[in-house]
Amino acid sequence: MISVGIDIGGTKALAVRLDGSQIVDESRFEVERTAETIDAVTQSIESVFDDSVQAIGVGVAGLVKPDDGVLVWGPHVPGTNLAIRSAVAERFGVRAYVDNDANAAAFAELSIGAASEYRNVLFVTLGTGIGGAVIIDGSLYRGGGFAGEWGHVQVDVNGVLCDCGKRGCWETRASGPALVRLAHEVVNRNPDSSLARILGAGAITGESVVAAADAGDETARALVTEVGRSFGQGLAGLVAVFDPELVLVGGGLGSIGESIIGPARRVLADSLHGGRLRVPPAVQVATLGPSAGAVGAALLAAQDGV
Ligand SMILES: [Zn+2]
Repeated sequence: MISVGIDIGGTKALAVRLDGSQIVDESRFEVERTAETIDAVTQSIESVFDDSVQAIGVGVAGLVKPDDGVLVWGPHVPGTNLAIRSAVAERFGVRAYVDNDANAAAFAELSIGAASEYRNVLFVTLGTGIGGAVIIDGSLYRGGGFAGEWGHVQVDVNGVLCDCGKRGCWETRASGPALVRLAHEVVNRNPDSSLARILGAGAITGESVVAAADAGDETARALVTEVGRSFGQGLAGLVAVFDPELVLVGGGLGSIGESIIGPARRVLADSLHGGRLRVPPAVQVATLGPSAGAVGAALLAAQDGV
């Protein structure tokens, strides 16, 4: 089976062509924020499409109805109620499938990655926000289509404003932007601090703060630990509900690994009811990296959504 998968977010798109589960071609794009989403999807597909392609999968960051192939809404993607599946199927003349980007990435991890040996897994993406997917008994669980949007569980009614329009969502405490916000507070309060010198005049990113922490800056380490602990606190809530065998962490910040995940793991172990009488699930970094969403979208399309 030759299939194409694309992963499209607010600023970037990745397109792959697979033969079976092997990537045989890929291309990356910057997406203009003002670009029509369906045009951006079509252009991404064109970059890797040829006559051998039998199925096309689209993973997109937002609320997707997989049964209809419609993107209802995404905080970083222009347009609402976009009929992506019918537009793609019509344009390219092959069957198409559309899903949330985290579902697509989780499906790739389940098929050929770190989740392949497990039956019950929570896939949690930690990056610009927090998203995720639920795998129950070896299959994706979608609910009505929108399951796994736990980044928008409110953890602080008086918290900062979230991209979704609500206040104090989990992702406002534990994400790349949360770390950046904390770093800005420190730097503004104390421009002579070692962290201010390390981060310099350039734009502060979640990755740059983690790098400063890993290089030994105590202030940066405290901030990264704070975000990691907030991440772990949220994970504890999810584990209380699902009791998975494995929590798999993907996304740009999650992929950085131990400096964030270590504190999260400790808070998770301390927070579970039942204490030492139960073993917390393993918390591991996803293995397929940034191509997981595009690969998973292609695999889902090849299997017609499973
Ligand atoms: Zn929110």
